[in-house]
Amino acid sequence: MERLVDTHCHLAMEDFANDLAETLERARLAGVEKMLIVGSDEKGSLDAFDLVSRESSSRLFAAVGIHPHDSSSASDGIPDSVSELARHPIVVAVGETGLDYFYDHSPREVQKEVFALHIALARECAKPLVVHVRDAYDDAMEILRKEKTHDRGGVIHCFSGEMHHALAAIDLGFYISFAGPLSYPGNETLRKIAAGLPLERILCETDSPYLSPQPKRGKRNEPANVRFVYEELARVRGISAQACAETVRDNASRLFGWGG
Ligand SMILES: [Zn+2]
Ligand SMILES: [Zn+2]
Repeated sequence: MERLVDTHCHLAMEDFANDLAETLERARLAGVEKMLIVGSDEKGSLDAFDLVSRESSSRLFAAVGIHPHDSSSASDGIPDSVSELARHPIVVAVGETGLDYFYDHSPREVQKEVFALHIALARECAKPLVVHVRDAYDDAMEILRKEKTHDRGGVIHCFSGEMHHALAAIDLGFYISFAGPLSYPGNETLRKIAAGLPLERILCETDSPYLSPQPKRGKRNEPANVRFVYEELARVRGISAQACAETVRDNASRLFGWGG
């Protein structure tokens, strides 16, 4: 496969500190053409921005924001450093933000407030949102509806909700992104959702270093493995992996405005 995109990875994290160049080279050899480097707290957002600035190519782009796990750190507002970076051209999205009631690392009320602040920031910068939701789909959809995201919408990354949540998100202008769990044996329901949604609203990602796809499960994940996600998506939809990759690439370009 060629010209793949990984629409969500955390390459600026410590996990890649020792072999970032090799990781990027393996991604290149695996046909990965563009990657979105996502920040999940203030330092992570600055690091994602630094990594993308250093690379000086059209391969890497950044998203900046505060993950729901860390919402408590932004209860007085999104740090200025992060809001300023959100305006920079190499930052193509705001996030990751959202709600995570599985871990509940931050109080739910704080998570909701900080999520709303990110929606406002995305609107101000006219950039799409990267949304993380775990065990909180009803509340997340309600907030997206109430806070009125703008035309650019965003992506629900590593989707784990039900079909009606995916359709509601698409109605609100969002894309649905699938990661390694699409290939896990127990996830038949998720595969049915991936098979049933319009392909022009689907994205693929690794969420590296987390969630390695089935063939690499238990190991650190990396963008080169995104091909397994494309292969699984293609399999459930009964189309070729290359056709799948081409449509997803167009979808990502439309959403992030990062060129062909
Ligand atoms: Zn996430
Ligand atoms: Zn993530």
